[in-house]
Amino acid sequence: VILVLFGPPGCGKGTQSSRLASEINGQVLSTGDLFRQRIAQSDPLAQKLRAILSAGELVSDELVIQMLLPEIHRVQAAEQHVILDGFPRTLVQAQSLDQAGNVSPNHVIVFDVPDDEIVDRITGRLVHPQSGRVYHQRFNPPKKPQIDDVTGQKLVQREDDQPQTVKRRIATYHQNTQPIINYYQEQNTIISQIDGTGPVNQVTDRLMQVIHSSR
Ligand code: ADP
Ligand code: ADP
Repeated sequence: VILVLFGPPGCGKGTQSSRLASEINGQVLSTGDLFRQRIAQSDPLAQKLRAILSAGELVSDELVIQMLLPEIHRVQAAEQHVILDGFPRTLVQAQSLDQAGNVSPNHVIVFDVPDDEIVDRITGRLVHPQSGRVYHQRFNPPKKPQIDDVTGQKLVQREDDQPQTVKRRIATYHQNTQPIINYYQEQNTIISQIDGTGPVNQVTDRLMQVIHSSR
């Protein structure tokens, strides 16, 4: 099964996808994480990606697909469910996925969170780059300030989590969302909309509910 977690930046896709993966024998594929891992190698492609991400712009559809498809195939070969986090972000990406064959999403779950809350969430986000664990200064603080609970290593703010860049990313999301939703409606893909506000556990409950009811 291929699940898509869809929603604006900061709506909780990363937080919820890791919980979901452990509930359903799934693996999360986050295109944002794929790019950040790639940026750690310091070659020309890494530099190009870094410039795109820090400006809050989208990576080209072609490159996204080229990097993601082998990962989907790897998870399928391991007979695990695929949980897509942050993909597709454009209509072309959604179409390309279908054209690749045997990798069409079975269920698209859209998280609703109002823009002003998104800004609060992203500007307070702290991450542990080595593991991808996500915290929030106020909403989900680590046990010790600025320190990862598991490894004791330092947490950082993402370079693209600055107020100006966040506004840009939210605008891009709104621009691309409706065409993608319309496309999945035309394909008769199951689409569920859930409320992404409130405590993390409550959002997880809503997510599990729509997943179980679609089976
Ligand atoms: P967030 O979790 O805040 O939404 P992500 O980690 O998903 O952020 O993405 C970070 C950045 O990586 C995006 O702002 C964009 O530059 C790039 N990116 C991630 N996924 C895609 C995608 N599917 N298409 C194009 N660019 C992407
Ligand atoms: P995304 O992957 O969609 O960009 P994240 O899972 O990284 O979103 O969450 C963005 C920020 O919001 C993080 O700092 C996270 O700790 C926080 N967060 C996630 N879910 C909630 C929630 N239900 N209420 C408050 N803050 C949340």
